[in-house]
Amino acid sequence: MKCPICKHGDTKPGYASITLERGDATLVFKHVPATICDNCGEEFISEEITGSLLERAGRAAAEGVRVDVREYQAA
Ligand SMILES: [Zn+2]
Repeated sequence: MKCPICKHGDTKPGYASITLERGDATLVFKHVPATICDNCGEEFISEEITGSLLERAGRAAAEGVRVDVREYQAA
């Protein structure tokens, strides 16, 4: 699809690193499936994956995790 941000690039499947902050916790998820613009580099994450990341970040925060880097693995 055409990138809705820059209107020039085409988006392609790839992987992104996503950082989430929940309270005191900062979580970095690597290799998150994403659609990435080949022109401006904007990363688009599906709602399903975003929901999964938020849930994991919330769980980590509840466990007292402060800073962590994790591999994203599809459930
Ligand atoms: Zn773009």
